[in-house]
Amino acid sequence: MKIGCVKEIKKHEYRVGLTPSCVAAYAARGHEVYIQNGAGEGAGFEDAEYAAAGAILMSKPEDIYGFCQMIVKVKEPQPSEYPLLREGQILYTYLHLAADESQTKALLHNRVTAIAYETIRLDDGSLPCLAPMSEIAGRLSVQEGAKYLERPFGGRGILLGGVPGVQRGKVAILGGGVVGTNAAKIALGMGAEVTILDVRASRLAYLDDVFHGAVSTLYSTDANIRRVISESDLVIGAVLIPGARAPKLIRREHLGLMKKRSVIVDVAVDQGGCVETTRPTTHDNPIYEVDGIIHYCVANMPGAVALTSTLALTSTTLPFGLEIAEKGAEAACRENPAIRRGLNTYKGHLTCKEVALAFNMPW
Ligand code: NAD
Repeated sequence: MKIGCVKEIKKHEYRVGLTPSCVAAYAARGHEVYIQNGAGEGAGFEDAEYAAAGAILMSKPEDIYGFCQMIVKVKEPQPSEYPLLREGQILYTYLHLAADESQTKALLHNRVTAIAYETIRLDDGSLPCLAPMSEIAGRLSVQEGAKYLERPFGGRGILLGGVPGVQRGKVAILGGGVVGTNAAKIALGMGAEVTILDVRASRLAYLDDVFHGAVSTLYSTDANIRRVISESDLVIGAVLIPGARAPKLIRREHLGLMKKRSVIVDVAVDQGGCVETTRPTTHDNPIYEVDGIIHYCVANMPGAVALTSTLALTSTTLPFGLEIAEKGAEAACRENPAIRRGLNTYKGHLTCKEVALAFNMPW
């Protein structure tokens, strides 16, 4: 199969859909791989590395779209890319269609075979191509929070780990899933005092076990949230109710309970945020202040660490990509239910129930 990878054109997207070692893996199975010049630049991969791995470099994205049977990307196509997508072409990337009606219509109109990373789901319900980004966002959330706690960035001037004789900083994590667990690891590693709140008793028991009691676990009730945030220097929002908007666990009146110049990192911002005063920000201008509390609400946190993110993402997308290239989209979907769940549009029809429900369309 002819596989193409173009440079991402979404603002502040530095990741790339294929690394040179992915190219080598496709080439070893007899596929031809076409890479746009400079596609890997943002993540630190040179054109020469792609060429050495067996890729054919092309300068114009329209040639890659026009020529290749499968396009591998990171982010959803941007409006200027819609007309380049062709009937029957396989588009393998993050799509997030339920939040994007115009893109959904474009993919249906162009009769694209769109396979979304975020809906590839294993039989146990896990989302293998989404989890690495949550791991990264969780780890990054504490790093960013620690930075904005520094006085020159407007924070309280607190070192999370403290020093001998001086109290350590306190971190509260709302939601103990993938983001929350990874945030806890880093916060503990920095020497902070960590409390995780969740609604699932089984998850709290698991966290208590894996952290050997080094983190405090609490049921996520309004009273517990109020108490914990009033004592914390850094609050991480990491809740998720799949498919729904995040519940507003911290309301504006709660901010008055918090210490002035403490920091909220609301990782759940992509689902609307679990803090009432959250609004999406970008890497250009990541923070703002409300009632003396610093808010960091970047919706694509992994983009800041493009190299780590690209390596983590491509190592989970590659095996499915190879299977799709080897068998073709139809057979891959028939034989592998995880890939079938990833299929969002096919021959002008919606094939993902959640997306169809979001737009009241048939599927
Ligand atoms: P997850 O499903 O692994 O974990 C979510 C946790 O929230 C679960 O343990 C669940 O029990 C808990 N929860 C649900 N309701 C709760 C409540 N009322 N109080 C406390 N806990 C509650 O999800 P995840 O992968 O950790 O993702 C968390 C959020 O981070 C999602 O919104 C995801 O989209 C987002 N995310 C954002 C970025 C970014 O760049 N901003 C990157 C990756 C993930």
